[in-house]
Amino acid sequence: MSLTMCHLYANLLNTYGDNGNLLVLKHRANARGIAFDIETISLDQPFDGDKYDMVFIGGGQDYEQLLVAKDLQTKKAALTAYIENNKVMLAICGGYQMLGQYYMDADGNRIDGISVMPHYTVNGDERFIGDVILHNKTFDEKYVGFENHGGRTYLGEGQQPLAMVEKGRGNNGEDGTEGTIYKNTFGSYLHGALLANNADLADRLLLNALQTKYPELAELPPLVSKFQAKAKAERLLGRDATDK
Ligand code: GLN
Repeated sequence: MSLTMCHLYANLLNTYGDNGNLLVLKHRANARGIAFDIETISLDQPFDGDKYDMVFIGGGQDYEQLLVAKDLQTKKAALTAYIENNKVMLAICGGYQMLGQYYMDADGNRIDGISVMPHYTVNGDERFIGDVILHNKTFDEKYVGFENHGGRTYLGEGQQPLAMVEKGRGNNGEDGTEGTIYKNTFGSYLHGALLANNADLADRLLLNALQTKYPELAELPPLVSKFQAKAKAERLLGRDATDK
């Protein structure tokens, strides 16, 4: 099995180690014997969703978001089709903002999104910075991460959050929501990188992407990292794996 990931605007939207999400996905795919290729698409390069099983777009400063905004409109139709076709996408912070209607930045610029989802974002005076704990009721999973954003995001009518905030500010510091889920597209403010702290979510993205490509696949093959294998072997021998 193999997966191909498209990293959108990798050279511009790459704050707070968001690239780590790709390393986690690649590691967790490879440790299951699944090949994982990453291609980058940036300004003036067409996006062809048929080529990809997953898409990632990271966070950025307002300045980089402005640079990306115009180009993003040229990719709007292809990205919308990709998302509407239930394919897997992860969008963090600035990338998440730009899947919605617009982001009014700290200088009052309106940065148009692709409106594939109804959320919109307006900058507030205080930046929301700090550790975050979330709970997703549907999956009964906790997610942890770190947020740093000036934007307050308001979900549209009926738009699903990724999870509810137990600690931190989330989408807007008011309604207790964080991020969004639409079909197989996941948006979140969490850096950290998000998937490095939240293996359940990483595996959900991998399974969804694999099942789109290989519909007969029932579940993910088991993951056995070198460290887990060593720790298990040491435990079986009655030793503490952290000794050496
Ligand atoms: N510039 C946006 C904001 O401040 C996004 C920040 C980010 O991607 N980390 O809200």
